[in-house]
Amino acid sequence: MATGNINVSVENIFPLIKKFLYSDHEIFLRELISNATDATLKLKHLTGIGEAAVEFGNPVIEVKVDKEGKKLHIIDQGIGMTTEEVQKYINEVAFSGAEEFLNKYKDSAKDTGIIGHFGLGFYSAFMVAEKVEIITKSYQDAPAAHWTCDGSPQYTLETSDKTERGTEIILHIAEDSTEFLEDSKISELLVKYNKFMPISIKFGTKEETLPLPEGAAEDAKPDTITVDNIINNPNPAWTKQPADLETDDYKTFYRELYPMQFEEPLFHIHLNVDYPFNLTGILYFPKLTNDLSMQKDKIQLYQNQVFVTDNVEGIVPEFLTMLKGVIDSPDIPLNVSRSYLQADGNVKKISSYITRKVADKLKSLFNENREDFEKKWNDIKIVIEYGMLSEEKFYEKADKFALYPTVDSTYFTFDELIEKIKPTQTDKDDNTIILYASNQEAQHSYIQDAKEKGYEVLLLDSPIVSHLIQRLEGDKEKVQFVRVDADHVDNLIKKDEEKISKLSEEEQETLKTTLTGIIPAEKYTVQLESRDSSAAPIIITEPEFMRRMKE
Ligand code: ADP
Ligand code: MG
Repeated sequence: MATGNINVSVENIFPLIKKFLYSDHEIFLRELISNATDATLKLKHLTGIGEAAVEFGNPVIEVKVDKEGKKLHIIDQGIGMTTEEVQKYINEVAFSGAEEFLNKYKDSAKDTGIIGHFGLGFYSAFMVAEKVEIITKSYQDAPAAHWTCDGSPQYTLETSDKTERGTEIILHIAEDSTEFLEDSKISELLVKYNKFMPISIKFGTKEETLPLPEGAAEDAKPDTITVDNIINNPNPAWTKQPADLETDDYKTFYRELYPMQFEEPLFHIHLNVDYPFNLTGILYFPKLTNDLSMQKDKIQLYQNQVFVTDNVEGIVPEFLTMLKGVIDSPDIPLNVSRSYLQADGNVKKISSYITRKVADKLKSLFNENREDFEKKWNDIKIVIEYGMLSEEKFYEKADKFALYPTVDSTYFTFDELIEKIKPTQTDKDDNTIILYASNQEAQHSYIQDAKEKGYEVLLLDSPIVSHLIQRLEGDKEKVQFVRVDADHVDNLIKKDEEKISKLSEEEQETLKTTLTGIIPAEKYTVQLESRDSSAAPIIITEPEFMRRMKE
């Protein structure tokens, strides 16, 4: 037997990293801006704790396209790197300076929002560039460094005359990636990935119209000035404390998140936990519309304010994927497959936390303003009913605030409904019978009949209502749902003690046994009417579930 080491050389690995590190080439920009952000946040932290004797100021990150020169520049005013640091952080693939920083400053730095940790992000630049340059000057007193690499394992490293603190990354865009030299493409990527990153990002300039001075002539033209085009909001609503926000702030943020969406959300839920996992975010219940753009606007997942994906499958329970908003958590493992995600303990906890928060919010809306809750019911019921069917924990909570509207738009909770109808709508076997219609118009005459008899008729018209009925019948004791146009409604209901059958109990039993002998019991039930006024003294019915199956 022989053992040995497989010989892995850098030459072999480098092209693999380039090709397979990320399936999506466009994320190189996100990675480089994340590094620029980290560099700036590190400097902020070090000046904050007095370890860096420099002015932090108001640093921005700038992205510049040089179409003629086929170059893309990403420039920051962050911590910078000395020559030794370039050796260490850049030339060692898979060594993360971000992780090292967090380990070194442990407690004090845990809330800095530093993004990197795999030590691979930088190399994603080679997915779109044939050559990459780094020109960097550390905040420490050291000469600036200039690193150049054409994607082979060879690099050059020399000193540079850069005088301002910070780092400039220059990508020489490859022939097959020239789309990244288009302003519109870069703009699109910045908006997609970097819109809420914590350090201001400048991309070009824009004209801004100044307000007219007071008392200006009517035909006066307002002045315009040229200002930096800052593409991001460094302090998005979800990073703030709920106590510091008004309802309007949440609405404004909704529009920021979905600029093409003109419908206002119904209400919001602010998520905020730091133990046993970190998670912040804001979820919105949207108003139901037929607008297709509405479905495109999904919940967005962020990690330290960097957009990751709008596919939150596995992280948010399925019934809540109809909601809108953002979730930001550094604790969701992102570079792993979806099936792994579902098995991950943290992710499971996150999912059940979100379910609980949503249920609690609905409960408090119901308790605080029932009238308003009823008004919104039509827009939110599908989410709630779906949740009741798919999540046991949610069912238990929602059972207290799920509403059952009648055809006359009276809204009952389940308990209220039973209390109301029990005296009049209970059958001989002591089952409380809930009458419902699924279509007001088609079932109009039946509804009228039932109402004249003093029965309540629910209007249950959501697409999943038959499942919900089954769920409720299984859970609640002695409750049956019966469609208002079912044949036997007329006779089945209303416990009426005064008028009893003319037959003695013994006679009734004999008659029943005889009939049951003739009629197949697995398909029909036989019942004798106890009211003598009834038009039908004997009732043979098909069970409700058989009927439903045929529909
Ligand atoms: P990660 O961000 O996960 O640590 P990267 O491959 O993205 O890994 O970057 C490697 C390291 O290079 C960073 O941790 C950091 O120390 C250094 N670095 C990259 N970009 C910059 C920058 N713009 N300014 C300062 N240091 C940087
Ligand atoms: Mg990085």
